[in-house]
Amino acid sequence: MLPLLREHWGNPSSAHARGRAARRAVDGARDRLAAMLGCAPRELTFTSGGTEADNLALRGSVQRWGSERGRHVVVSAIEHEAILSSAAALAGRGEAEVSVVGCERSGRVDPERVAAAVRPDTVLVSLMLANNEIGTVQEVAEAARLARQVNPRTLVHSDAVQALGRLPLSPAGLDVDLLSLSAHKCYGPKGCGVLYARSGVGLTAQVDGGGQERGRRSGTENVAAIAGFAAAAELVEDERGAEGKRQARLRDEFEKVVTAATGARVAGRAAERLPHLSALLVDGASSESLVTALDLEGVEASSGSACSSGAAQPSHVVVALGEDPRRVALLRLSLGRGTSAAEMAHAARLVIGAVSRARVGCGPHPVQHPGR
Ligand code: PLP
Repeated sequence: MLPLLREHWGNPSSAHARGRAARRAVDGARDRLAAMLGCAPRELTFTSGGTEADNLALRGSVQRWGSERGRHVVVSAIEHEAILSSAAALAGRGEAEVSVVGCERSGRVDPERVAAAVRPDTVLVSLMLANNEIGTVQEVAEAARLARQVNPRTLVHSDAVQALGRLPLSPAGLDVDLLSLSAHKCYGPKGCGVLYARSGVGLTAQVDGGGQERGRRSGTENVAAIAGFAAAAELVEDERGAEGKRQARLRDEFEKVVTAATGARVAGRAAERLPHLSALLVDGASSESLVTALDLEGVEASSGSACSSGAAQPSHVVVALGEDPRRVALLRLSLGRGTSAAEMAHAARLVIGAVSRARVGCGPHPVQHPGR
């Protein structure tokens, strides 16, 4: 990224040499990501991140195909807010009708239930590959197959933002028409993402202007971030197998120790999960107090998803699991390539301490005051 910021900082739409160098960087990054995903470079549209890729997938396909194929959209209840809010906005404006498919207590979305929600006027099904709060992995290819049996014209989108560098990833393998990715989930820069759209799946642009990205997403490309995205994705893909095994081992040991000491439950344990993510359901504690207590001790944990305000909100995923967020805290810890066994053992001790203190707790307890 640094040479592109320091020397080759031209505009990729400029015809001069510096502009052409920037264009080569963007095209090269697109080629490398396409090679990794097993798709054609022209099927990739760079965006400002996973959120914009999700919005482009949903809004762009409803607006492009809705009048021909219908305006019904199917999403799962545990999608990221980028999908749920985008679908709600379409519904709010009368541009789409949205069906939400719930998940099992295990965090798995049943592909048969997805297909059962598909109708003759279903233009799009959106099912995330891996959940960002509990890490459960969905059977996207099976859901796509079953959905198309009901309606062959239905497009299938998957938000695979959490899966990059964690799971094998190809649009063909997942059998999807549209796929969203984000650079900062694989150690790339923030503010950069990509939407794969299968050749022939036209989308209505959501940002109009100079016609960059083949008219799909106008605006001067974030050249350094795009190059950083491709480099980061290649690095993480190279180490995926070994790192996944290592992190899953540390994660499983951490969960064994913490659940034995605290009685916390592991969200999604019965389903396939991402290897690096541990989501603990802690009865009788609040997510906010746990996260705050751990932060003071140097453990960077989260509750639900990281929302822009940082405010504690009940997690829609916890609700979808059939849990009562007033009684159960969600504590999410993620491992990365820099996380060691010693750090995980230390984190386990701190989590056990924080949970027992949160339960003794100061102030009224949600379990004793369910009306609150
Ligand atoms: N989808 C999922 C599953 C995510 O986890 C995230 C980010 O956490 C997003 C979408 C949004 O991506 P971005 O932060 O790049 O906008």
